[in-house]
Amino acid sequence: MSILVPQPGVMDITPYVGGESGVPGVTRIIKLASNEGAHGPSPKAIEAFKAHGSEIHRYPDGGCTALREAVAAKYDLDASRIVFGAGSDELLGLLCRAYAGEGDEVLYSEHGFLMYPIAAKAASATPVAAPDDDLAADVDQILAKVTAATRIVFIANPNNPTGTYLSKSELERLRAGLPGDVLLVIDAAYAEYIDLEDYSPGIDLVEANDNVVMTRTFSKIYGLGGMRLGWAYGSAQIADVLNRVRNPFNVSQAAQEAGLAALADQDFVDSVKAHNNEWLPWTTQKVREIGYDVPPSIGNFILVRFPDEEGKGALDADEFLKSRGIIARRMAVYGLPESLRVTIGLEDEMRAFVAALAEFHG
Ligand SMILES: *Cc1c(COP(=O)(O)O)cnc(C)c1O
Repeated sequence: MSILVPQPGVMDITPYVGGESGVPGVTRIIKLASNEGAHGPSPKAIEAFKAHGSEIHRYPDGGCTALREAVAAKYDLDASRIVFGAGSDELLGLLCRAYAGEGDEVLYSEHGFLMYPIAAKAASATPVAAPDDDLAADVDQILAKVTAATRIVFIANPNNPTGTYLSKSELERLRAGLPGDVLLVIDAAYAEYIDLEDYSPGIDLVEANDNVVMTRTFSKIYGLGGMRLGWAYGSAQIADVLNRVRNPFNVSQAAQEAGLAALADQDFVDSVKAHNNEWLPWTTQKVREIGYDVPPSIGNFILVRFPDEEGKGALDADEFLKSRGIIARRMAVYGLPESLRVTIGLEDEMRAFVAALAEFHG
């Protein structure tokens, strides 16, 4: 037995396992497991990344200055209150570390993003899950779980893996119902895909309250998951706190260059979004026609729910799809063992997925 003892909570973490990327013996793989974006990154982002190759011995700009200014200009934000991270995951972890510790509670919705309980435990805080209402976050149930020990409430909007979202007014009601000393983290990883009237990524709430922070990522619509690039926008105090706890060079210059080019290529983003606007409803409808329940999703993925029946369940479906080279994501770690999450891929990938699923269903 080692005499080294990690901080409370650390050994309770079930390490995060990413989506699989290969199937032994299958050469043509359709990877629909990690919401990575069907189209990859903008060719301009790839160019910028390559052009930086001869400079990788240099330390990056630790302040991500050009990128913060570009994001600020794009969304009309205060650049000094933007903090970049190595993916938004890093920022979620830093927020926990900075604002919660042993004896504190970190609240999230039952089928919320898996990084929230992991980040809470890594900070020795206690993760608390509020029950969902039929797979969607429920403001009343979240508020009912708030105690004097609550320090942070995480809400992914829309949520991964359910694809459901809280309307702008529900999000406002959540903030209004929280005590002033509770930080509301709005994780808007899929915001760029959405232009629904009643959806807000949360910038309005950040501007109106000094205890709200929004996180965003370049991993989804921008297709830069491998670069590890995300950002947070909050009050001056929150930005200051994040800048104190983050590593000084947490974002590589290659990621910054790729991010800048990706941000400037709005045509590419528009085309990815148009693709999703077509193939998300198409796939949802086809899967429902086959006979599976799919909660309404506004992200670039759907949750497919299988019956708890011998040979017909989610794991059986997963095995079958894999035999066809199609990799979906198992959901047991999210408390949804009867479901698979499927990313919206390219047209031929979606057609192949739907055909395989229909064959499996029989
Ligand atoms: C993918 C995802 C993230 C992680 O984004 P990174 O910037 O790659 O760390 C965060 N939140 C949600 C809800 C996600 O689905």
